[in-house]
Amino acid sequence: MPQTDALVIGAGPVGLFQAFQLGLLGLKVEVVDVLPQAGGQCMALYPDKPIYDVPGVPRCTGRELTSLLLEQASPFLPIDGATGQRPNLHLGQQVESLTQADGGWQVTTSTGWACQARAVVIAAGAGAFVPRGLGVAALDGASNLSHQLPGEFVAELPGDGRERHLGATPPDWAGQHLVVAGGGDEALAAVLSASRAAPAHRPARITLLHRRDAFQAEPEAEAAVRALIQSGDVQLVLGVPQGARLTRASTGPGSSIEALQLLGADGLPFDLPLDHLLVRLGLSPKLGPLTQWGLDLERKQVRVDTATFETSLAGVHAVGDINTYPGKKRLLLCGFHEATLAAHAIATALHPDTPPHLLYTTTSPVLHQRLGVKG
Ligand SMILES: Cc1cc2nc3c(=O)[nH]c(=O)nc-3n(C[C@H](O)[C@H](O)[C@H](O)COP(=O)(O)OP(=O)(O)OC[C@H]3O[C@@H](n4cnc5c(N)ncnc54)[C@H](O)[C@@H]3O)c2cc1C
Repeated sequence: MPQTDALVIGAGPVGLFQAFQLGLLGLKVEVVDVLPQAGGQCMALYPDKPIYDVPGVPRCTGRELTSLLLEQASPFLPIDGATGQRPNLHLGQQVESLTQADGGWQVTTSTGWACQARAVVIAAGAGAFVPRGLGVAALDGASNLSHQLPGEFVAELPGDGRERHLGATPPDWAGQHLVVAGGGDEALAAVLSASRAAPAHRPARITLLHRRDAFQAEPEAEAAVRALIQSGDVQLVLGVPQGARLTRASTGPGSSIEALQLLGADGLPFDLPLDHLLVRLGLSPKLGPLTQWGLDLERKQVRVDTATFETSLAGVHAVGDINTYPGKKRLLLCGFHEATLAAHAIATALHPDTPPHLLYTTTSPVLHQRLGVKG
C-alpha cells in the first residue's frame, strides 16, 4: 500500500493549493477527487465565468484559475512524461473510508485504491459532485443508462465545425436510439456531440427529453440544437419521467431500459422506447461517506480549530468550503489562507523536533530547490 505524509481529499481550488503548500514544506502528498478533472466548483459549475477577487489576479475564469493552480502545484503533483498523467493526483474516485492505522490514517477509494497517510486534509467543498438522476428508482443500475460528467464536453460546443466524440472513447451508438434527458448546457452539448460523432458512432436517432420547451443554456448551444430539431435530425420530446419498462422484471445490474414511461404536458401517460439513456441534469454535491467518519459536524460542515484547521480527529484537517468556524466565509481567498495554516500545522506535527521556519519563496534557496527553480 502506498504511504505518504499527507493525503488531500478533494482536488478543488483549495485542495490544489493545499498540495502546493504541503509540498513547499517538504511533505509528500497525494490528492484524490471523485470528478474526472481537477478544479472542483470552478470547473464543474463555472468554468467560463470570470472571478474578480483572487488577490493579484484582476480577472480569470474558473478554468484559468484551475490551470494556474495546477501549474503552481506541478513541482509536487508532477506530470509523468510517458503517460501525461499526474501519478499522485487520483481522479475519478471517491474517498469512501477513513480509518486509523499505524498512528496515521488509511484512506480507501471507490476504485479500491488505498493509501496510508500520516495526516489527512479534507478539502471536500460541499461534498463529492455526483450526477443528478431522474428520480426514477427503476432506472438504478440499468446497463444502458449513463451520466458522463461535464468536463468531457467543455470543448465540444459548436464553433469550429470539427467532428467530435463523447468522452475519450467514443460510445458505440451506431444504429441506436439515444435519448438525452435534460435542458441545460450539459444536455445540449451532449446532443450536439452525438449528432456530430463519426458515422461509425453516431446514433441512428437522437431524442432530447425535457420537461418543457425551454432550455437553460448558452444561446449558441440552444440555437444549434434548435436548428437540429427544426431540420428533424433531433426529436424534442416533452414529458416527465414516471417509471421505466425494463428487459427484466428485476432492477439492478443486468437489466436494461426498453422504454421510459412519461407523463405528457396534456396529462396523458406515454412510453418512449430507447436503446440508450444519457441523463444530463448536471451535478449536485453530496457529503456521502464523509458523514460516517466520526467528524464533529455542524450543519453538514466540519468544525475546525482555526489555528491549525484540525478537526475533532487528531491528524485530520479540513479546509475550504467544507469547514466551519466563527466568521467562516466560503471564498477562495479564505480557503487558500486555511490551507497555508493547515500545512504549517501538519509539518509541525510530523516533525516536532524541527518545525518549519517561515521562509519566503522569493529568497529561500530551500524553497527554490523544492520548487525546482534557480534562485
Ligand atoms: C457560481 C459560483 C461562483 C463563485 N464565484 C466565486 C468568486 O468570484 N470568488 C470566490 O472567492 N469564490 C467564488 N465561489 C466559491 C468558490 O468556488 C468556492 O469557495 C471554492 O470552490 C471552494 O473550494 P474547495 O476546494 O473548498 O471546494 P470545491 O471547489 O467544492 O472542491 C471540492 C472537491 O472535493 C471533491 N470531493 C468531495 N468529497 C470527496 C470525496 N469523498 N472523495 C473524493 N473527492 C471528493 C469534489 O468532487 C470537489 O471536486 C463561487 C462559487 C460558485 C458556485
